[in-house]
Amino acid sequence: MQFSAVVGQEELKKHLVSEVRNEKISHAQLFLGKPGYGTLPIALAFVQFLFCEDKKENDSCGVCASCRKVQKLQHPDLHFSFPTVQTISKLSDPILPEWREQIGENPYFNLNAWIKKIDVKERKPIIGKDESQEIIKKLSLRAFEGGYKVMLIWMAEEMNTACANKLLKIIEEPPAKTLFLLVSESQEYMLQTILSRTQKVIVPRVHMSDISAFLKENHQMNNDASDSVAARVDGDVLEALEMVGDQVEHDENHGLFVQLMRVCYKKNVLDMMQWAESIAATSKEHQKVFLRYALHMFRQSMLRNYTEDHLTRVSADEDKFLENFARFITGNNIMDFMELFNKSFYQIERNANGKILFTNLCFQVMRFIHAA
Ligand SMILES: [Zn+2]
Repeated sequence: MQFSAVVGQEELKKHLVSEVRNEKISHAQLFLGKPGYGTLPIALAFVQFLFCEDKKENDSCGVCASCRKVQKLQHPDLHFSFPTVQTISKLSDPILPEWREQIGENPYFNLNAWIKKIDVKERKPIIGKDESQEIIKKLSLRAFEGGYKVMLIWMAEEMNTACANKLLKIIEEPPAKTLFLLVSESQEYMLQTILSRTQKVIVPRVHMSDISAFLKENHQMNNDASDSVAARVDGDVLEALEMVGDQVEHDENHGLFVQLMRVCYKKNVLDMMQWAESIAATSKEHQKVFLRYALHMFRQSMLRNYTEDHLTRVSADEDKFLENFARFITGNNIMDFMELFNKSFYQIERNANGKILFTNLCFQVMRFIHAA
């Protein structure tokens, strides 16, 4: 990726550009900071600039053969090492397709997202001894394209001691034109011996205004919304993205809920079937999130009916909807609703057929809502 695709970090970009231009590239660098500050994106942009055959003043060209290879994460002289679940693969290379996919989807991600990506059982990944041997082997080869060989180690703090110890010598005295780029969230868990052999590149928080501008451009947010998110995330792009995602999810679920209640109230069977079909086509995770959301709305309706309004915890769009809807949730049907949605949640978790389950749910909701 190009420096222009990295959110903010203008000073650091300048520093890295001048490092390459003045040929003062330290052979082992440790990019330190939270993943949401952009440690990995900035390391990738640095490599692309280094390899670029037609460097522009402040960035790689983005179109030369080298740039395209780095962009696809398929440059023969750019090697990656990252934590893997040892029972799946002791080496990074077999997991490269997932690695490329993850960075393609979003280069701002953390170890948790990575774990979810590579292992359904979500076991803890490490960088182990076998991988360190592989690193040494790869770096002993001559560079394919005659320039630098780069070894980028992501989440370097996940190297176990055996791995780290094996790498000490090569990090201290690497073969000619070899570059180690370690990316790490915290130096706390890294061996002192490794730390003392690397030059630290501190990746600071992203400026609030840069996060806000990024959200506006990439997530079609207005000034108020993007400023409000940017103000709450403490310079962390990843957190900002999560917050935006939550908002989208909220809007989706709210829309689904309103639609469900509407078609069931009108006893429109055809629309009910259609609603059931569309939610059945989404992921189990999504279905569970929706069911939870519906439970939240039933509870809020009850609170609205039987307590003072100010006790309810709802957003503006929910509040508007509940104004008319809450009267349909009463002591006559609340228990039925809660039980139905709780039971459905339980059954989805146990792999029930979504289409049958949600069709059924629609007919029950139709009955209950008219029993208010
Ligand atoms: Zn280029």
